[in-house]
Amino acid sequence: MNAFSAGPAYAQWMDENDPLAQYREAFAIADPNLIYLDGNSLGRLPKKTEKMLQEAVRDAWGTRLIRAWNEGWIESDRMLGAKIAKLVGAQADEILVTEGTSINLFKLATAALKARPNRKEIVSDVLNFPSDLYILQGIIDMLDNQHTLRLIPSSDSIHIKTEDMRKAINGETALVSLSHVAFKSAFMYDMKRVTDIAHKNGALMLWDLCHSVGAVPVDLNASGVDLAVGCTYKYLNGGPGSPAFLYVRRELQEKLIPPMWGWFAADKPFDFNLNFQPATDISRFRVGTLPMLSLLAIEPGIDVLLEATMEAVRAKSVQQTQYMIALAKEWLFPYGFTLGTPEDPSQRGSHVSLRHTEGYRINCAMVAPNPPAVQVIPDFRAPDNIRMGIAPLYTRFIDLFRGMERVREIMRDRLYENYSQERQTVT
Ligand SMILES: *Cc1c(COP(=O)(O)O)cnc(C)c1O
Repeated sequence: MNAFSAGPAYAQWMDENDPLAQYREAFAIADPNLIYLDGNSLGRLPKKTEKMLQEAVRDAWGTRLIRAWNEGWIESDRMLGAKIAKLVGAQADEILVTEGTSINLFKLATAALKARPNRKEIVSDVLNFPSDLYILQGIIDMLDNQHTLRLIPSSDSIHIKTEDMRKAINGETALVSLSHVAFKSAFMYDMKRVTDIAHKNGALMLWDLCHSVGAVPVDLNASGVDLAVGCTYKYLNGGPGSPAFLYVRRELQEKLIPPMWGWFAADKPFDFNLNFQPATDISRFRVGTLPMLSLLAIEPGIDVLLEATMEAVRAKSVQQTQYMIALAKEWLFPYGFTLGTPEDPSQRGSHVSLRHTEGYRINCAMVAPNPPAVQVIPDFRAPDNIRMGIAPLYTRFIDLFRGMERVREIMRDRLYENYSQERQTVT
């Protein structure tokens, strides 16, 4: 069986023939009836992480105390960076795990602007994550409003057209800062093409990989990318608020001057020199002491992905987003849903956005049903997007089938009308 059909047998067949099926076992799944479609916001807990954190607390911190720093801790930000490098086509010494994505974006974008002192434009797009735009706006303010932020428009709130992107980038552009996969629509840029355009115009290129790393194949080196940032709590399953990563192309590492000069960024932190002498490698983008427990928690999630391979993850992700779109067309479009995600899988990341004017209340009905109805957890992104995230390591076809069946039921019986319009703090 290969041709799509809207019955459960198709989903079961796909699961039985899924080469990644075994990896679901690697995750703690407390409630097997919960349909979790929010791995793009907070990935599941890998079973190994529980054990590893217990050991880190009891054995390393509890027993080895300060000695643990010289027993591996001090290398962990670069060791984990080297592992992430394998997922995104970078060299081992080009990635560092440190702070959060927003903070890393601040550090790299500021350094990039300093490296292009005669250029005064930053290019981003209207699909970018607000935090990224706020950080760029804040940098402009900090640098006394000498720069302008130009946003590439989108005519449908789903795609960015190449010609619009070309128009925005020119000889005035210092930095192009974009999300590779858009957080709301899942639109995915052709990384190499955009990077080439930035470079032809003499600009530096910075990619945010939050919705890419662990979800779609990325090849930073082959695309000639200068800078990148990304988080580890989404598709890498590193835990809530886990430290993020940054990438600086090797040739740029010694040329870029980070805006925050902490002691861990120094050439020899334990010489305690009174004047800052930056490290010559990626360590110069550190700031202070590493958050060891959160750092250690990242490793098991990365290991599962490395074993499964990004090629296999991507192949399943494309099948699953296609499947979900096909079910939506058959079951949900008649109720007024529209697709908020690119149709073309080569332009789509690993989630599907479905738009409906009642999106918020439909989302509530999915998340908080009256038992025994099945509980489905996607997330809601204003004004009207229900985002269904697919994490191929643990998302099954039958989950997608049941989840979409539930939305159909909510629409058919107008169950969302029982929920309030009032928004919760975290949606
Ligand atoms: C999730 C996400 C972030 C998160 O930034 P934090 O600093 O971790 O809160 C940033 N950018 C994009 C594109 C994201 O999707």
